[in-house]
Amino acid sequence: MEILVVGSVAFDSVETPFGQGDEVLGGSATYFSTAASFFAGVRLVAVVGEDFPREHRDFLAARNIDLAGLQVAPGRTFRWKGRYGFDLNEAQTLETHLNVFEGFQPQLPENFRDSEVVFLANIDPELQLEVVRQVRRPRLIACDTMNFWIGGKREALVRTLREVDILVINEGETRQLAGEANLVKAARSVLALGPKTLVVKRGEYGVLVFTAHSIFSAPAYPLEEVFDPTGAGDTFAGGFIGHLAATGDFSEAGVRKATVFGSVMASFTVEDFSLNRLRRVTWAEIEERFRKFQALTSFEGLD
Ligand code: AMP
Repeated sequence: MEILVVGSVAFDSVETPFGQGDEVLGGSATYFSTAASFFAGVRLVAVVGEDFPREHRDFLAARNIDLAGLQVAPGRTFRWKGRYGFDLNEAQTLETHLNVFEGFQPQLPENFRDSEVVFLANIDPELQLEVVRQVRRPRLIACDTMNFWIGGKREALVRTLREVDILVINEGETRQLAGEANLVKAARSVLALGPKTLVVKRGEYGVLVFTAHSIFSAPAYPLEEVFDPTGAGDTFAGGFIGHLAATGDFSEAGVRKATVFGSVMASFTVEDFSLNRLRRVTWAEIEERFRKFQALTSFEGLD
């Protein structure tokens, strides 16, 4: 199944205790598409400015990402500036410049409207909803968001969430969205907003998947070298949704396996700045790390 994604394509400036990147390729849709493209075909809907270089476009196209929905508008590409301290779980946003996203009207190319799997990556919830309205009969709609939109565009976000099957957000965002400190109670309130499945990303502590009847926990891979967590969440979503689209298995078992593939992909992204590690990773490395995840959590049951 082909995956349709709308989200940001960005220049990121990031500072971590281990170094910095200036105006490097980033954006929620960029990380998502690159990770998902290891599993399934991806159709990208976004906008960039006239300053977006040919080499970035060529990189995405070479990953077999359909760029027919990537508009080029007069003005500057979206920019995000963030910083991480020694606690790499929480980014501090220093600057957000929406730039060309401010006037963006998503227009899906005709053949994108048949997409069966839709991922609404982190972007203005009004744009997310606009995309949902243009897709004919999707089998699965998943969504991400962040504090910037939960605080700034709550009503639009709540409207978008009514259309969503799977919500993928981090722990702080879950608490903020629910207005509840306890994560299990917060998850229950968020599920009441529409999504049937809530995937809570917890950085180096892994992922919790909540449904009305179950909770599943997957660890993050214990890495010795973590350079830059930027994009880990979007990369997780790319591996997760990518695997669901590749198998078409949206059952609970299917969601659990996809969660581990998401975690595998994210574990590569954080090993280097920007998309540098994803550019080099091979399918053999992905499979090998999947097996290591399996070994990491395998234990015997009670007699
Ligand atoms: P994450 O996977 O959560 O680390 O997301 C990091 C990416 O989100 C960066 O590459 C940013 O360009 C992008 N980003 C940051 N703020 C926003 C925003 N308000 N809307 C859309 N994308 C954003």
